[in-house]
Amino acid sequence: MPATPKPAGEDYVGRFAPSPTGPLHFGSLVAALASYLDARANNGQWLVRIEDVDETRCDASYADAILATLDTFGLDWDGEVIVQSRRKARYQEVLATLEAAGQTYHCECSRKEIADSAVMGIDGPVYPGTCRHKNLPAHGAAIRFASPAGAVEFEDRLQGKQIQNVERAVGDFVIRRRDGLAAYQLAVVVDDFDSGITDIVRGADLLDSTARQIVLQRALGYPTPRYLHFPVVSNNDGEKLSKQTLAAPVATGDRIGVLRGALHFLRQPEIQRVADCRQLLAAAVANWQPETISRSRSLVFPDKT
Ligand code: GLU
Repeated sequence: MPATPKPAGEDYVGRFAPSPTGPLHFGSLVAALASYLDARANNGQWLVRIEDVDETRCDASYADAILATLDTFGLDWDGEVIVQSRRKARYQEVLATLEAAGQTYHCECSRKEIADSAVMGIDGPVYPGTCRHKNLPAHGAAIRFASPAGAVEFEDRLQGKQIQNVERAVGDFVIRRRDGLAAYQLAVVVDDFDSGITDIVRGADLLDSTARQIVLQRALGYPTPRYLHFPVVSNNDGEKLSKQTLAAPVATGDRIGVLRGALHFLRQPEIQRVADCRQLLAAAVANWQPETISRSRSLVFPDKT
């Protein structure tokens, strides 16, 4: 059944959800900008959420630096910044709901065991369901969500119709890790629901995660937001800009120039001379044409060809 798209307009609530694993790089600036422009062009709210659920990879100083950078670029958010590491009790509550509904099970398979016995899926090995009927105790185990059978269908505003059978493409997936931390897929679904997010505009590296998020939304009785996945920025080796690929922090000297670069990446119309970032952003909101963004999943920038 296709997810029902929400009408854009007064009730639009969007968000930018950076993981503070490093300073804001050009790829994350593009993500911030695209979600900001789409929200503002729809008279919507734009929230910022610090995705530090994976405490083993995050650092509070990066979170502060990211917020300071957004501020320097004139990307003003609405309301309080939401911080995942402060929401653990909430994730626990939702986990308990799913457990009580019999939609989860404990798993003690190691990565190696899974890799040895599984076929490859869209995001690593497909979990073969080894622990599904073992009724293992909670201690030291991960919690997996028992993926429903059948295909999930949704319409991405840019990438068009998407169909994924989560059970076959991923298998039962982890929603609470062995170390007790909530997994990204669960945290993101709970956070988006609690914030009343109607529209998710993010990089296409997360397109394959969307069906997992939709099956969780359905299990919890949450509405499905609208989605738009734009190409991620990659370097000349075709790798996504990230901390792992040693992406440089976004330059804050010529901020207008950097924003113009990000607008160019998103294939938005050129903007005439402006005095500052906020003026440029206001013009970019007025010109916003999400349908002209490239449908590629990844694009090199700057493009040297
Ligand atoms: N925290 C994720 C990232 O930085 C984004 C998650 C999302 O937008 O759903 O890639």
